[in-house]
Amino acid sequence: MSAATLLRDVFGFDAFRDGQQDIVDAVIDGRNTLAIMPTGGGKSLCFQLPALVRDGVTVVISPLIALMRDQVRGLQAAGVAAGALTSGNTEEETDAVWAALEAGTLKLLYMAPERLGASGTVQMLRRAGVSLIAVDEAHCVSQWGHDFRPDYLRIGQLRRDLDVPLAAFTATADAETQAEIIQKLFDGQQPASFLRGFDRPNIHLAFAVKDGPRAQIMNFAAARKGQSGIVYCGTRAKTETLAQALREGGHSACHYHGGMEAQDRRDVERRFQQEDGLIVVATVAFGMGIDKPDIRWVAHADLPKSIEAYYQEIGRAGRDGAPAETLTLFGPDDIRYRRQQIDEGLAPPERRMADHARLNALLGLCEALKCRREKLLGYFGEAEVTCGTCDLCDKPAEVFDATTPVRMALSAALRTEEWFGAGHLIDILLGANTDKIRQRGHETLPTYGVGRDYDKRQWQAIFRQMMGHDLMRPDPDRHGALRMTDKARPILRGEEEITLRRDTIRAARGSGPKVRMLVSEEDAPLLSALKAKRRFLAEQAGVPAYIIFNDRSLIEMAEAKPQTLDDMAKIGGVGAKKLESYGRDFLEVVAGAQEDVHPQRRKLAGRGEGEIYDRLLSVQSQLQRGPHGADKPMSLSASQLAKVAQLRSADMDGLTRLIGDRYAERFGDAFLEVLESG
Ligand code: ADP
Ligand code: ZN
Repeated sequence: MSAATLLRDVFGFDAFRDGQQDIVDAVIDGRNTLAIMPTGGGKSLCFQLPALVRDGVTVVISPLIALMRDQVRGLQAAGVAAGALTSGNTEEETDAVWAALEAGTLKLLYMAPERLGASGTVQMLRRAGVSLIAVDEAHCVSQWGHDFRPDYLRIGQLRRDLDVPLAAFTATADAETQAEIIQKLFDGQQPASFLRGFDRPNIHLAFAVKDGPRAQIMNFAAARKGQSGIVYCGTRAKTETLAQALREGGHSACHYHGGMEAQDRRDVERRFQQEDGLIVVATVAFGMGIDKPDIRWVAHADLPKSIEAYYQEIGRAGRDGAPAETLTLFGPDDIRYRRQQIDEGLAPPERRMADHARLNALLGLCEALKCRREKLLGYFGEAEVTCGTCDLCDKPAEVFDATTPVRMALSAALRTEEWFGAGHLIDILLGANTDKIRQRGHETLPTYGVGRDYDKRQWQAIFRQMMGHDLMRPDPDRHGALRMTDKARPILRGEEEITLRRDTIRAARGSGPKVRMLVSEEDAPLLSALKAKRRFLAEQAGVPAYIIFNDRSLIEMAEAKPQTLDDMAKIGGVGAKKLESYGRDFLEVVAGAQEDVHPQRRKLAGRGEGEIYDRLLSVQSQLQRGPHGADKPMSLSASQLAKVAQLRSADMDGLTRLIGDRYAERFGDAFLEVLESG
């Protein structure tokens, strides 16, 4: 079968995503390949599909058992012969994998790298007819990276022993890691390399200055109730209190941090993977090993430590390609805390400089005056950026020429010999009459009271932005007193001007980012019904919801409203196997009961209402697209229809109460006719 056919029939996708086709072609051709794609870019397809085209077995090396099991389950649900040999297997599972290998029916074999050390593994793989090695998370081979897995070093030997092509995949793109991967996996021979851009266009970016941060997070979550999300916090204690608050707010939420027992952490990971709509409030310890494609939002209750960390953390959202949202909160305390962390760390000075630079890049993003995405991707070296999905594209920032107040602030700091923090400097600028001012004689300074054009809050915003633009830094040796940086000098000397945002404080007091629904208001109830069906099927099968269909497929169903199985097959993510397994179930939700007798109808069997039900159903299907067949299709669920059939007193009011205005308008008269004649 051709790659295009497999893409449609097995994976249920209409088209390759950006970059996938070239990688797939190279891997099918049997070239050594290194592909670097952002998380959620669709790496797995790039080895799974070639594995089906090529003869023999593809062995997939992956670092995390949970991820392997997940992929195997997904493949099996799509009708692909895949198995895993991991320490998490039951004996039956292992036996089944061996049997399929012996029979030559297995196409994909997932293995943990540890297994490569076991005696006999290589012979076994050779006998099984392995024709391709795929390495997921290939950066784990890098000794200097944070995800180093010593067992990954065995993969190079495996490639030499089996003498088959190898395809390596990672989302980590820095040059040193790439060089190390090529050295360790390909013996230094340059593979065909593919580097895909860093943009994740389906992720909405937003930042807000902290202003009642607890309420800001609660609002953000409330606007997305029922959707899976992660809240990242700076401290362990906060994860617990915030999770508690979210539960009190009616959410399903739990906390996660490195101080918890391993078993408790695994429980949270499993629940998150399995459940639809759980919020995990976590420290950054929650990340590696999270492979849930339908995380709909990520919020930062505290500022991340660098622009790289930010990108990685928000990148966990929306891997399925459906819209996802993010919100990052920050304030002057965050900036002080992150600077202090770097200054007090044990890293050598050059490293600390680099860390400050990475933090600066993130602060620049926080205080951006224009498109966030442009700024973020610009940092990663991408110039061509189209956005329209960030808070500043939604609503442009209000800016003002802040050269004068910034000079005032700098001069207040310099005239007090850089020994004070923002609070006291603002008191000086406002001409406040405090003990501290009188004790130090600061009321005699020329800057005393020169800043009365701005109020205290505005000055706080100015100081925060100055720290964000790295014009002033807290000095750890002076208890966090603000000191001017070299970057500020030209502004002080009158050689440069500076523009700041006027609106960040006011915006923070609003309700946060506006709610963006996954589908139009019209289609929202149908989407909920489809999700309910999915949850039911997932629970029945004991698999995560997205294994049945991912959010993107359900959204498409809710919008396209397939009326037949043929229509259903055209929905993205609906391959032949899934169509057969679940097509009918979901079609029923969209288009109402199909020929088979519906359980709701069955309950009415043998009673007068059964016949009424049938007539209601036929009336409904005649009017489904309105009296002239030109309107949006509408239909009641089987259980609602059953309730209509059982209505005692048949009048328009009672009917409207039961099925709602919109349905009553379309079907009311016709239903009453049926009920009255029955
Ligand atoms: P990663 O690159 O992070 O490993 P995955 O391989 O898990 O990403 O893919 C992320 C999501 O994108 C999955 O839900 C997958 O089903 C979906 N996907 C992959 N390729 C396509 C495609 N060509 N069209 C639509 N969705 C795709
Ligand atoms: Zn933008």
